[in-house]
Amino acid sequence: MRFFDRKKIRLLFGFTVFLVLLILNCVMYCNKAGMKRDLVVVIDVGHGGNDPGKIGVDNVKEKDVNLQIALCLKAQLQARGVKVILTREGDVCLATNGATNKKVSDMHNRVSLINASGADYMISIHQNSYPEAEISGPQVFYYGSSEMSKKLAEAIQAQLIVDLQPPKEREIKTGNDLYILKNSQCPGVIVECGFLSNPTECENLQNPQYQQAVAAAIARAICKL
Ligand SMILES: [Zn+2]
Repeated sequence: MRFFDRKKIRLLFGFTVFLVLLILNCVMYCNKAGMKRDLVVVIDVGHGGNDPGKIGVDNVKEKDVNLQIALCLKAQLQARGVKVILTREGDVCLATNGATNKKVSDMHNRVSLINASGADYMISIHQNSYPEAEISGPQVFYYGSSEMSKKLAEAIQAQLIVDLQPPKEREIKTGNDLYILKNSQCPGVIVECGFLSNPTECENLQNPQYQQAVAAAIARAICKL
């Protein structure tokens, strides 16, 4: 009987060690793959509907590029186990029907959606434009008093530079007067992926492979935090 008990204890001990090793292995694999469990990210897709945003040198509309990159980012984050919410998935304006000021209503509804999402991070996707065509390079904006937003901005800016190797390496910038940054409750950034006023960057930003690279850089940066 004693011998049998010892054998049982040994078996139980062996099985417990096996289980612990299996769990450790899974945790290590998840970390290695950059997977984040229970992380929620809300992607704000800039403009839409009657608001085209910036117009590119070849007449491309910012709202369309924003949506294409946002959908790539959604897929990249989901592949890393992140739960994703988008403020829009089609070419729509978020203003309430009959609103007198559509832009104000659109921004208000965006922020309501972001704050109701309970997300850990907010990533607002936009494209830039400037009167001088040679100006280029991605740039990330954050709300000055939010330390976590600054960390997020630094991580995304650094990864965009490493992955895209833009001719002009820009630095993160505060955007304290930007409505979406000012009113979002969770740490958040606006990613200006590039300049639609720069012919080369405008072409790149419409290239599906480049769009994937932009999205992958943002997703990688978020999952490294
Ligand atoms: Zn914009």
